Amino acid sequence: MIHVGIGYDVHALVEGRKLVLGCVEIPHERGLDGHSDADALAHAITDAVLGAIGEVDIGHFFPNTDPRWKGAPSRVFLEESARQVKARGGRIVNIDATLIAERPKIFPHIGLMKERVAAALGLPVNKVGIKATTNERMGFLGREEGIAAMAVASVDLPE
Ligand code: MG
Repeated sequence: MIHVGIGYDVHALVEGRKLVLGCVEIPHERGLDGHSDADALAHAITDAVLGAIGEVDIGHFFPNTDPRWKGAPSRVFLEESARQVKARGGRIVNIDATLIAERPKIFPHIGLMKERVAAALGLPVNKVGIKATTNERMGFLGREEGIAAMAVASVDLPE
């Protein structure tokens, strides 16, 4: 039985932080603020996978008050979501995600992002879609105050 899940995340862009998206460090003058590495794309995908199996969101498993996850690579969160699917006898069918960032240019990094996200989820790379768009300079995303990501996951679960 195919189940789908949706995920959304946004983090603020601030000085003095690395920019990590889709488990890839991207050269930029600012990075995303957060307790972990603040990888909004990985967080949205994690929530999509957790949503597809009817689970609670990422913040429940990895509270931002827990020092263990301070600066944690978000690969760990993706791995945990895949582990939960497996524990239910299921498998992730595919993932699709969109990043919304005015800058920097995301496209040159998408190949590596797909490889790393696929590896964290235990999927072939052709099961992971990642696209990027701008917000046409409108709103907080358009003013480069932050970067957002949305994702869907399809998961095959036993009846
Ligand atoms: Mg987040």
